[in-house]
Amino acid sequence: MRGFAMLKIGETGWIEKPKPVAGPYDAIVAPLAIAPCTSDIHTVYSGAIGERHNLILGHEAVGQVVEVGKEVSYIKAGDRVVVPAITPNWRTLQIQHGVPHQHSESLLSGWKFSNDKDGVFAEFFHVNDADMNLAKLPNEISLEAASMMPDMMTTGFHGAELANIQIGSNVAVIGIGPVGLMGVAGAVLRGAARIFAVGSRPKCVELAKFYGATDIVNYKNGDIVQQILDLNHGQVDHVIVAGGNESVLGQAVEMLKPGGTIGNINYFGEGKTLDIPRLAWGCGMAHKTIYGGLCPGGRARMERMIAIVLAGRVDPSKLITHPFKGLEGVEKGLNLMKDKPAEVVKPLALI
Ligand code: NDP
Ligand code: ZN
Repeated sequence: MRGFAMLKIGETGWIEKPKPVAGPYDAIVAPLAIAPCTSDIHTVYSGAIGERHNLILGHEAVGQVVEVGKEVSYIKAGDRVVVPAITPNWRTLQIQHGVPHQHSESLLSGWKFSNDKDGVFAEFFHVNDADMNLAKLPNEISLEAASMMPDMMTTGFHGAELANIQIGSNVAVIGIGPVGLMGVAGAVLRGAARIFAVGSRPKCVELAKFYGATDIVNYKNGDIVQQILDLNHGQVDHVIVAGGNESVLGQAVEMLKPGGTIGNINYFGEGKTLDIPRLAWGCGMAHKTIYGGLCPGGRARMERMIAIVLAGRVDPSKLITHPFKGLEGVEKGLNLMKDKPAEVVKPLALI
């Protein structure tokens, strides 16, 4: 089968590999829609997970099941499914001891596609623990909307969950790429009052307003902490961090009220340590909490994403600015994500 792969750090290309084989609990899926992600760019061009050779990329997919293992009972060949980016092994003691499922076997072990096995940018891909990881896609939901569930929706919403947003609270969302935009939508779902969205690209600003931001802050127009303090007449209750460099975590602490919560979903790719401003953190006594997490996966989580879209609460298909036809579209889409012209929010390849 054909797949679009990381050949080595800094290099991508099309390769041929044998079709994957399903173990007793697994499924083999053919993609219907696949989306490149900022994380694929970090994997290939920043060496975020270290060197990989001929590893098929991609972790955001909707597909059709072509084969299931003999112990799989809920999922059948022919089902159209949403495939979460995070597909843990659910049969672990760690999960039963309360370890978040993203780390079911070890740190980040729930992230399997294009990390420790081939990803979804191929004619076929392998899904472990199919009954626990795949959600059936209702006919009423478009492939465009469904393809934003495996990572963009679940990650952005996780930012709102980690930030523990309360009804009527004021929230800053730092970064309004596709992840932060779903953070804005998640803040609305959790009942935020004012939402200060930080970004600069006009298309992202337009979408931030569409998803419910009440105020826009451009980090290119000066210190975002001061801008938000001025607009809000003081510190905010919660911050979602979904973009920016190593200094944004410190800025989040500075703009946060004592007792407030930060939900970080940003990837920090530089430096050995991250700075926390001592005074703004109350010399350690401000009851400001920082959570950081990987996007939740699994079937139940995807079924919740489906429920949100079915109920008409959020339309994630608006994130797709560059749809392409055919598997080849992932290469064009990935190159767009790499260069990120201002009008790109999310590319998609429809197969
Ligand atoms: P984008 O690059 O599309 O968006 C980044 C956003 O951050 C943009 O709005 C950008 O503004 C803004 N930004 C850039 N620099 C600054 C700055 N100095 N201060 C404030 N804002 C800034 O990324 P994505 O939305 O695709 O992804 C966001 C992050 O989430 C990435 O780090 C990605 O790796 C991570 N991620 C994490 C996952 C998880 O499981 N936790 C899953 C998927 C992604 P501008 O409008 O100027 O571009
Ligand atoms: Zn992704």
